[in-house]
Amino acid sequence: MKLTLALLFLISFTAIAQDLPVKWEELRASDWDKALEKSGYTCILPMGVIEKHGLHVPLGSDIIKARNWATRAAEVEYAVVFPDFIYGQIFEAMHQPGTIAIPSDVLWAVLEATIEEIARNGFEKILILNGHGGNNNFIPYFIQAQLGKRRDYALFLHSRDADPEYNAKLNQLRESDPSYDQHAGERETSEILYLRPDLVIQERADDESGKDMDRLDLPDLYTGIWWYAGFPNHYAGEGSAGSRELGKFITEYQVESVVRALRLIKEDDTVIELQNEYFDRVEKGFR
Ligand SMILES: [Zn+2]
Repeated sequence: MKLTLALLFLISFTAIAQDLPVKWEELRASDWDKALEKSGYTCILPMGVIEKHGLHVPLGSDIIKARNWATRAAEVEYAVVFPDFIYGQIFEAMHQPGTIAIPSDVLWAVLEATIEEIARNGFEKILILNGHGGNNNFIPYFIQAQLGKRRDYALFLHSRDADPEYNAKLNQLRESDPSYDQHAGERETSEILYLRPDLVIQERADDESGKDMDRLDLPDLYTGIWWYAGFPNHYAGEGSAGSRELGKFITEYQVESVVRALRLIKEDDTVIELQNEYFDRVEKGFR
């Protein structure tokens, strides 16, 4: 019996070892050319941040989500998945335990250097998958600023427009008020319940309020304290309503959408062609 188990383990281990891993850090140097070719020179950069997620789901929930979308999608449509990028815009949660908020110029430089290293290693197309809502202004600006100098690679951000059918099903499955289900609430708790149930202590979700405190009334004005004004507990929604079923639905939808994005990116030559055309014109100048 013991021998059979050992043999089975050896067989399965050997079988796994022969595959081409999707994770950058699991590839052997001898796999590199094959991984570049099979990926269509495409690398995924999963981005999250380390921050409080209510009292019940882990600090790394955002990177857990982004890493899972990346690896699950890459297993369907091959791409190489860069190790977790855990730095992001998170100045609104420095009053909470465990937050890692690095200065904006350092964040920019580390992300820039990371992208450059991915490209230097042979990738021509880089897809950012972002699991952190606080990055929603930062990443598009970072990508827009790519046009500041010539690049021999294209950088993409996956951002899904949820279709009406998905929204209808989501609202059918969701029990809490969708208007403030934003951070560690029913939706996000469900995702972690599906991906890492071992890290969720759902009974703690109601020990703090995730309701919008609505402490600012300044229509048409934006201010950095807007999030804290509404959600000083850095918790928005009702995590206690979360379910594995909802998490499975959300994750599968997201992964499907990333697979589609990967296929589009791998087939596309237009972005790099247009970038080259653009920089040829910039460098030609006006003299
Ligand atoms: Zn989150």
